[in-house]
Amino acid sequence: MERIRLLIIGGGPAGYTAAIYASRAALAPVLYEGMEPGGQLTTTTVVENYPGFPEGVDANKLMGDMRAQAVRLGADIRRGTVVKADLSSRPFRFTLDGGEELEAESVIIATGAAAKYLGLPSERKFRGMGVSACATCDGFFYRKKDVAVVGGGDTACEEATYLAGLCRKVYIIVRRDVLRASKAMQQKVAATPNIEVLWNCNTQEVLGDDFGVTGARLLRKDGTVFDISIDGFFLAIGHHPNSDLFKEWLETDSLGYIVTDGKSSRTSVEGVFAAGDVQDPTYRQAVNAAASGCRAALDAEKFLLGI
Ligand code: NDP
Repeated sequence: MERIRLLIIGGGPAGYTAAIYASRAALAPVLYEGMEPGGQLTTTTVVENYPGFPEGVDANKLMGDMRAQAVRLGADIRRGTVVKADLSSRPFRFTLDGGEELEAESVIIATGAAAKYLGLPSERKFRGMGVSACATCDGFFYRKKDVAVVGGGDTACEEATYLAGLCRKVYIIVRRDVLRASKAMQQKVAATPNIEVLWNCNTQEVLGDDFGVTGARLLRKDGTVFDISIDGFFLAIGHHPNSDLFKEWLETDSLGYIVTDGKSSRTSVEGVFAAGDVQDPTYRQAVNAAASGCRAALDAEKFLLGI
């Protein structure tokens, strides 16, 4: 069985940054990228708030460059997903999606978070047939059509304004009478003529036929039920940390985020570190994920060197 000194799980800003630092510290990191190399950022277009890019930067280029930097410094970055973890004793043991097994003296978990869905059977039925959790990935298919975005946060507003540039009409389905999004985002939404906010509404059912989504049935707080006619139904209601594999072994909070010790990346198991969105329910931004990947590599270095 292959024995690795430092395993990094996850190919987002946290994982790649951890790989950059760990390579420079000669820890011979092996990184498995999982199913979404580049992480959540690759589902967006231009990143304007990552420092160092006065004109903004294409998200895929940013992630590709982080990866290339880690590889140049010696990180062994591999395609593949860890499907099973045993953190009961050291060396820790892992199984990959191809069935291979490996051992690691230490591990940095940087598996990020995944989009949440409402949980409606009709939503599941039409997933990939008009239901999507990524407007920037799938918006192109709805050019000149009518769509809806569910949610009232920054993601919903950002996705709605993006879609408004492609689509004829964009509804935002908001369950309360306020948006949670930042003032700047709210102003953008208000200034976009083809966006209509449907306040106090919950989705009862996604409507469709053999060809995909045709509408949504909404329930307003006052009890009114009404249908809207749409071709695309986009979810933007937050994220779920990708910690399920590790919950049996590590302390997690009520939402499933991995608990880390103070400002460090140390988890409840010695030699296991967590970085990025999988341990951060609050400051979920790429630059924060990258910074926590750096911390995790420094913590892993101390652990491996016994200092
Ligand atoms: P948020 O948690 O901020 O917002 C989720 C939204 O979805 C809320 O409006 C919430 O409603 C709504 N919601 C949750 N569950 C349901 C449900 N079952 N039915 C209907 N509506 C539901 O998540 P975001 O993904 O928007 O943002 C995550 C973080 O990333 C935030 O900190 C955000 O500021 C940041 N971000 C920043 C961006 C930027 O700066 N460019 C872009 C995108 C995100 P309610 O308000 O009622 O709880």
